[in-house]
Amino acid sequence: MKQADHSASGGMLWTVLSLFPEMFDSVLGASLFGKARDKGLVEVELINFRDFALGRHKVVDDAPFGGGTGMLLKAEPLALALDNVRASDSDVWVVLLSPQGYLLDQQRIRRLSGHKHVALVCGRYEGVDHRVCSMVDEEISIGDYVLSGGEAAAWVVMDAVSRLLPGVVGTQESVVKESFCSDNLLEHPQYTRPRVFRGQQVPEVLLSGNHAVIEHWARRQSILRTARRRPDLLEQAELTKEESDWLAEQE
Ligand code: SAM
Repeated sequence: MKQADHSASGGMLWTVLSLFPEMFDSVLGASLFGKARDKGLVEVELINFRDFALGRHKVVDDAPFGGGTGMLLKAEPLALALDNVRASDSDVWVVLLSPQGYLLDQQRIRRLSGHKHVALVCGRYEGVDHRVCSMVDEEISIGDYVLSGGEAAAWVVMDAVSRLLPGVVGTQESVVKESFCSDNLLEHPQYTRPRVFRGQQVPEVLLSGNHAVIEHWARRQSILRTARRRPDLLEQAELTKEESDWLAEQE
């Protein structure tokens, strides 16, 4: 994987600032993301911001003012690393991974996919000096729980954004027709062979070959599944009167 070279490329460029860049080697070299890198659709550069720490010992953390447990990442090494990234590309969009950030959802993922170059800042320890927040464009949380570092969150963001880029997923339709897409519904249940597995039958309608009927069934299953599993999403979905009446009958 590339190490902080900032060369121009045709694909989307991810710059990851982390104290543990080696954590990305295997996870971003495999499967869909690995293939996208091979095709030049995405590029990753890894920066160990310890390289920007001053002094012989390259210290990146210190005790918080006012007391408290643990250590905080100092502002300076991150600031210098980000200055370097911005100096080579003033259009870069900088994201700090933080449990206190805006909650990640498909809409935010879609917005990120519109950037040519995104830099992800991975915190560690007790997090970052608050002054780092003024150096980033956005703070993102991947969920209401606390990870030990931002690296796993960075993988999540990179994976979800990159699969939306043209050419990364084989059929573009498959990233449009799925959960959280335009209609705010979860995807309908899907099946593959065999037709019967441990006594469970594939719904007859899916074997009918009638696309209009299958489409209708799939939409209703999406609505039902969303109502049962994620009623919060359903509130934002647009249902026809007929669909709302049908749903009321199911409950
Ligand atoms: N003390 C911090 C707090 O209470 O908000 C938590 C720091 S956490 C142990 C260390 C780093 O992991 C954070 O700086 C952040 O980069 C990353 N991290 C932890 N949970 C995260 C989440 N839910 N989403 C994104 N990043 C997260």
